Order: sequence, then C-alpha cells, then structure tokens
Amino acid sequence: MSKTNLMGFTVGQMEQLFERYGEQKYRGRQLFKWLYNDRLTDFVNMTNFTRELRGRLADDYAIKRLELKDRQVSVDGTEKFLFLTDDGHPVETVLIPDDDRNTLCVSSQAGCPLACRFCATGTLGLRRDLTAGEIIGQMMYIREFLGDEAFTNVVFMGMGEPLLNYDNLLASLQIMTDSMGLGIGAKKIVISTCGISPKIRQLADDGVKARLAISLHAATQAQREEIMPVARSYDLDSLIEAIRYYTDRTRTRVMFEYILMEGFNDSDEDIKALSRLMRGLPCKINLLAYNPVPGLDYRRPDDERVEWFAKELYPRAPAVMVRKSRGRDIDAACGQLAGRNMT
Ligand code: SF4
Repeated sequence: MSKTNLMGFTVGQMEQLFERYGEQKYRGRQLFKWLYNDRLTDFVNMTNFTRELRGRLADDYAIKRLELKDRQVSVDGTEKFLFLTDDGHPVETVLIPDDDRNTLCVSSQAGCPLACRFCATGTLGLRRDLTAGEIIGQMMYIREFLGDEAFTNVVFMGMGEPLLNYDNLLASLQIMTDSMGLGIGAKKIVISTCGISPKIRQLADDGVKARLAISLHAATQAQREEIMPVARSYDLDSLIEAIRYYTDRTRTRVMFEYILMEGFNDSDEDIKALSRLMRGLPCKINLLAYNPVPGLDYRRPDDERVEWFAKELYPRAPAVMVRKSRGRDIDAACGQLAGRNMT
C-alpha cells in the first residue's frame, strides 16, 4: 500500500493524526515544525519522538518533495524553476528580485482550465490541481536552494486559478503563515484571481488575511469575454459586486492587474471605461506591458504608450503603478517553460 504524503498537512491534520495514534495532540505541532520549519525529510531525525513513534510514522507516511526539472536565469536576475510532481506534471515557479523585495510567483494548478487567450498556460489545459504540499513545496525548495531570505513576498500568479483550488489554497496559507510553518506574514501574500466571484466572497467570509489581486485586463464585458472565457460565467457586474462585498467586509483594498496589449486595451476609451469601473472602489491598479507568447495574437505596446496610458489614467483612478516586465530573455510568460517541457 502506498504511503500518504505528509507534505501539505495542516497543523490541525497533524494533531488529528496523533490523536488517532492515541498520542497527545501537541505532537502535531512538533511534527509540523520538523516538516516545514526544519525541512526534515526523514522521521529518524525527529529527536523529540520516541523510536517507536518515529517507526510508526515511517510505516504510515512519506515526506515527498517536488523534483526540479529545469531552471533558467535571466540577465535581470529573474529565475524561473520548472518542477515535476511525482506523477510527472509541470509546476512553474518564478523568483523576481527587486530593489526592496524579492517576490516568489507560485503555481496553484498544473496547467489551467481557464484558457485566457493571451496566456501560455491557458493553451496547456488543466492537468490537475496541485496539492497543498505541492504549493508549499515550491517555496520550501527555493528556501533550501537559495536560502531563507531568498524571497520576501509570495504571489499566487503562476500557473492556474487559485480560487478553483480553494481548499488546497487555504491549507497552504495556513502552513505559510504559521510561525512554526514558513512564517510568512499574510500581508506579504497576494492571491490573484481572474474573477471567480463566489469565491471572492468566500475569501471574505472565511476571514482570509492575504491580499487580493484581480486580473482584470479589460474594462468592458465584451473585451473581457474576448480574452477571458471565464468572464462568460462570472460577468463584470457580478465581479464588481463581489469585490465590493470583499472590500466592505475586509476593509482592505484590492489590486487590479491590467496587462496592456497593443491595439486591444490601450486606448483613450479603455482609460475612460477603467476609471468608470474603479470609481468608488478601494483599489490600486498595476499596469504591465504584455510579454508576447509565440503563436498567440497579442502584441506588446511600446514604453511610450504604457507611460501615456498611466499618465492619462492616474488622475482618474485611485492609485496607478507601472510594473516592469521581467525575465524577457528567458521563457518569461507564465506557462512557457512548462509548455516546452510537456509531452
Ligand atoms: S492567465 Fe491565469 S487564469 Fe488565465 S489561463 Fe493563464 S494561468 Fe489560467
């Protein structure tokens, strides 16, 4: 019989495990620390457990990690990692160093079912949801490989739609934010969604403390539908209502992500539509020039156009930031490295 992988167990699940063994519940927290904080991969080294208990754990459980398949480093310092799950699915992770922070962009699914037209991952389809262990495993590998200070912030902006893998997202957040786990502050974590409206409300109801980003990319229903098929299921009105519910309930701002694509969403009309949409919402907007993907139709606007768009939008929107495109000399767009390595 194959052993259950402990990676991804929350502290509550570990406490239950020991209760089933007839052991004290606090053992769960000890195991949790060994696994995530001390990154042990062998029960033998868990010295505060009796030999019998270590043997029992080893009989029933395994500690399995992701395997690194490929790594690319950009001239600008951006590093892209391609991992494989133990059943051979690709998982991309990107480390983006910047002046004041190092951001780790993690994946929540292998592939993605949402098929956004501008996205390399969208062309792959969904292989499967990642387990909480596979989500956490990306961060643990980077820390082990590059040191505990390798990243300061985490964004769920890699492959997949995190709100379609909700339970595993929540389990991974528990492990990430627990001081005995990875000890990452909730405010240093961003969940980015293409707009699964009911789940945005659920995040607020569940009291999730991480920050929320919305991949908007177009400010009218027709444009959104053209590039993001998910917009047919959750239209712009339902999305804005859900965001309003979220901001009212959590008393926080959301971030809108807006990838500028030449001739598609970078006109004066788009600026007007965007500012109408954002009116009265506690939000910020991040603008980013599109990283073209070979075989896909969308183009990158030049730097002057991006600057013009930001300047025109700024007085009409609460806060506008322009993000630099990173890692353009490697397979920069999400899903490109995985796409090249998939069979
Ligand atoms: S942009 Fe995000 S949600 Fe859309 S297809 Fe790509 S990975 Fe999926």
